[in-house]
Amino acid sequence: MDTAGAFAVRDAVEGALFECRISLLGDSGVGKTSLARSFVQLPWNDNLRTSIGMDILTRRIVNDDGVNVVYYVSDTAGQERFRAMLPSQVRNSDAAVIVYDVTCAKSFENVRKWLHFVMNNMSIHTPVMMVGNKADLYHQREVTFSEGLEVAERSNLLFVETSAKTGDRVVAVFKQLSTVLRDRRMNDLF
Ligand code: GDP
Repeated sequence: MDTAGAFAVRDAVEGALFECRISLLGDSGVGKTSLARSFVQLPWNDNLRTSIGMDILTRRIVNDDGVNVVYYVSDTAGQERFRAMLPSQVRNSDAAVIVYDVTCAKSFENVRKWLHFVMNNMSIHTPVMMVGNKADLYHQREVTFSEGLEVAERSNLLFVETSAKTGDRVVAVFKQLSTVLRDRRMNDLF
């Protein structure tokens, strides 16, 4: 059975349940763990230690189209010694989020590196979103919204700025990715 057919049958049996595995990528310290925690409604923690290894957090949401989406969000460690885990992790994901920190130009420059990594390890049909996080720190900004948008448009990526701290636009990141993924599956693209 083709993928779209398989999903149609499962939707009918399970009351439209759609699973979406999303990998968070990006330099260490950009806020990947904080975004994942904010999305699954864990309390804000100002003193998070840099992630070690990999965590998967889950949340189930009924999307605007009435579909029950179960999100599995994997938060990858930035440390060199865990880099070996990354290729298999992203290959098992349906979508990717490349995060940079709007107060850190270096993390924005490194988006290119993360994009290459995605291109080398995931299908060309994989939905990818670029996220400029820490938008609440407007006095410390090193990357403007326009600069982010320009790179995203040039690379054909979805784009949003978020604040894991205030929760601004965090849920929208995940909802949009699952909607794009579902559309692509329905159209048998992926
Ligand atoms: P990771 O290494 O990419 O997983 O980054 P973390 O989630 O561990 O965040 C690194 C630091 O940035 C922590 O001190 C967080 O509290 C802080 N941080 C993360 N997201 C935000 C945000 O949106 N706004 C602010 N002000 N701080 C943030």
